[in-house]
Amino acid sequence: MSLEDYLYEKTVECPVCGNTFTVIAVKQKAYVVESRDTDFCVRYKEINPLLYDVWICQLCGYAAQKSTFPDISFKRAKLIQEYITPKWVARESEKIIDYDKAISRFKLALISAQISKAKASEVAGLCLKIAWTYRFMGETEKEKNFLTNALDKYLEAYAKERFPLENMDEPTVTYLIGELYRRLGNLEEAATWYSKVINTRAGSERVQKLAREQWHLVKEELKKNSAS
Ligand SMILES: [Zn+2]
Repeated sequence: MSLEDYLYEKTVECPVCGNTFTVIAVKQKAYVVESRDTDFCVRYKEINPLLYDVWICQLCGYAAQKSTFPDISFKRAKLIQEYITPKWVARESEKIIDYDKAISRFKLALISAQISKAKASEVAGLCLKIAWTYRFMGETEKEKNFLTNALDKYLEAYAKERFPLENMDEPTVTYLIGELYRRLGNLEEAATWYSKVINTRAGSERVQKLAREQWHLVKEELKKNSAS
């Protein structure tokens, strides 16, 4: 099967300017999971649906992840029209999206989110997905930069927003913060956040299990470090 067998076109409406346009979507059958990383990055067998996650309105320049695209407030839409649309230059929509194109699409969504003052959790989610895309590309330094940005924004969201944050309940976000700390080399902070999850005993069994496993991993690392 070719890549195009997994893709189809679908019509969506822009909540900022009312334009209707087509986006490339990934067929359900393509979502075959190969493995999951411990920060919830999913690896798929056939095609990477993450690359098709951002929708862009070529008329006004609004860009967002498909999960949040329709839900922009009137106030935020005004900011897009005021600060993005006048500078927007339409480009041809892509049929096949590779890693580089996906990165620039995610970065456009990040600009839309920042200029229209999206919630910290939305910005965090975008930074995390950019980090994952760099991970797929083997760009470790760039991945770390965006994991750092994601962590900052998740910490802000954790302190300020109500749960769930983009479908994640409090234990899941708490675990994820620990995991981002671990991936960025801050093992003490990682252990603290995993412990919070373990001690409350809340959340899904999967998150509890992940928190326990990663807590043990970090404890081993810390022991090794203090021994050497
Ligand atoms: Zn639009």
